[in-house]
Amino acid sequence: MGSSLGLKLFLNTLGFHPTVITPTDFAGFLNWMKDSEKTVVFEGNEARCKTLTAEADFIFCLDFNHLSRINEYGEFVGNSKAKKIMIDHHQFPQGFEDLSYWDDTASSTCELVYRFIAELGLQANVDKDIASCLYTGIVTDTGSFRYSNCSSRTHIIAAELMDFGIDHVAIHDQVFDSYTEKRVRFIGYAISQKLEVLKEYKTALITINRQELKEYDVITGDTEGLVNYGLSIEGIKFAVLIIDRSKIVKMSFRSKGKFAANNFALQHFNGGGHFHAAGGSSLVPFEETIAQFKEVLKQYKEELNA
Ligand code: 5GP
Repeated sequence: MGSSLGLKLFLNTLGFHPTVITPTDFAGFLNWMKDSEKTVVFEGNEARCKTLTAEADFIFCLDFNHLSRINEYGEFVGNSKAKKIMIDHHQFPQGFEDLSYWDDTASSTCELVYRFIAELGLQANVDKDIASCLYTGIVTDTGSFRYSNCSSRTHIIAAELMDFGIDHVAIHDQVFDSYTEKRVRFIGYAISQKLEVLKEYKTALITINRQELKEYDVITGDTEGLVNYGLSIEGIKFAVLIIDRSKIVKMSFRSKGKFAANNFALQHFNGGGHFHAAGGSSLVPFEETIAQFKEVLKQYKEELNA
């Protein structure tokens, strides 16, 4: 959302009026971003998105490099005659695009959007709203500047973004300190009741079933960051969150040190992502997926204990 809205607002300054389309709805804690309310969510607006996509001259593809990452919407983007410009920082690009601005050493796509603007020599067009969107994406993707993807360049860009007058305290407050009470209670429940520590694998697992999603009225964004609690336990190198979503079982993987979360996701759960932060999915039933995960984990015992 940060990279898409940041780029959209920047393009507005050049006289272009793109539409931001997201494959699914987005977390409510981002709805303060300028023009977020103009975003068209593919799910539920398929016909409109189909027309917009077919009629577009250019499609900027932000924060994904494989069409499967945007679910069914990927087919429409793939079929569109528009020139596709991919701006992304994930490994292993699919190569669907016409032009790419890609760097897997960048902390975030927001960092790349800023670099893209800077390389065009158009930093003067950046305003507080654009900077706020880009700063947010950098903060969230770096875990508030603490993950290994955060470089000195990230800090320099963040500093430059601050100079556009953003209110970083308010941004932090909106993103991290504006949880609903039910979200906090849900996190409490997940940690106290659903966290399994698999000590012999230095792994922490949280599983959330559909009943629990319903009971705690979990909405998009409520599970954001939940997987990290597992990794905050001393000695844990691999943290996993498995959620029984409506069509698929969705998985989040986080790792520390030399254990490649993206490789694990790619090898076993149709996924990918970054070395320390990855995701995947499974089409087999929830309980079966959990069993499958525990079975597969056995292969990594040595590596996780190294
Ligand atoms: P999260 O666990 O926060 O959903 O995702 C962590 C990282 O893994 C993000 O960079 C995200 O783009 C990537 N990711 C999440 N799910 C998938 C997936 O199913 N496939 C791939 N290739 N990457 C994923």
